[in-house]
Amino acid sequence: MSSNAGDTYPTWRFEGKVVLVTGAGSGIGAACTRRFAEAGALVAAVDLDGAAVAALARADARIHPFTANVGEAGAMDAVIATVVEHFGQLDILVNNAGIFRTAPFVETTDETWAESIATNLTGVFYASRAAARVMLARGAGGRIVNVSSQHAAVSEPNGSAYTATKAGVEGFTRTLASELAPAGITVNCVRPGATRSNLTAPIFTQQVLDALLPRIPLGMVAEPDWIAQGILFFASDAGRYATGTTLALDGGYIMDGSLAAGAAYGSS
Ligand code: NAD
Repeated sequence: MSSNAGDTYPTWRFEGKVVLVTGAGSGIGAACTRRFAEAGALVAAVDLDGAAVAALARADARIHPFTANVGEAGAMDAVIATVVEHFGQLDILVNNAGIFRTAPFVETTDETWAESIATNLTGVFYASRAAARVMLARGAGGRIVNVSSQHAAVSEPNGSAYTATKAGVEGFTRTLASELAPAGITVNCVRPGATRSNLTAPIFTQQVLDALLPRIPLGMVAEPDWIAQGILFFASDAGRYATGTTLALDGGYIMDGSLAAGAAYGSS
């Protein structure tokens, strides 16, 4: 039987690693950008909102801001080419940028549909393809971590475009993982549940929270940092044996099949 006695323990440090995070200006993206930088990585922080990533960069010299739209053809190729030119490599890509547009299905406009697909799905394709090309050319493996949503797996009424994009991201993750595994590039997905951020601030009214919190077994909305920890896990040595998988960080939302109003099977 082989022994792991001489194995090094997984590390959560990222010294010498170059990371690119999309949607880095806010919420989950900003949280993981800060954590990667604190753990020693050089981080290319990409966002449509240039002022937001510039502010992150002012707080930590390891963070480098880039203003770009992930859904625009050629934009992520250009950003990743600049990252490789300046830092010599790209080790880790986090596809986090996302938008959440809601409308009853029959009132969903072509624009809402196209904008959702462009940012949440095509953006993941553009950045992953550009990153995989440079990772394959270098031959030193790599990590891609995508951010989906619990609504990839359960219905979100009025969120047809969003749920389509997030389910697409999870399927895309599995195919990429198969294709890139021989090159030592892992591809995984973090599936957040309800998380406090700019995206959810307008949605989490008191009325929504009163209905939402009893529906979450852990009874809490997540902080962005709690989701960032899952992203760092897949990107770290600790996550070296995971590929093509999805980690739900949702307070138990999806696994819970409880009956409504506190009723339970077997109780009288
Ligand atoms: P957020 O709105 O706080 O941050 C998203 C960031 O992405 C913003 O800074 C925004 O400017 C940027 N962005 C949007 N479109 C972009 C584009 N085309 N190009 C570049 N940057 C762009 O949102 P968040 O809650 O931190 O969400 C991050 C990810 O997590 C998203 O993919 C979202 O769908 C997913 N998610 C969030 C929740 C939640 O409850 N907050 C739940 C499930 C999944």
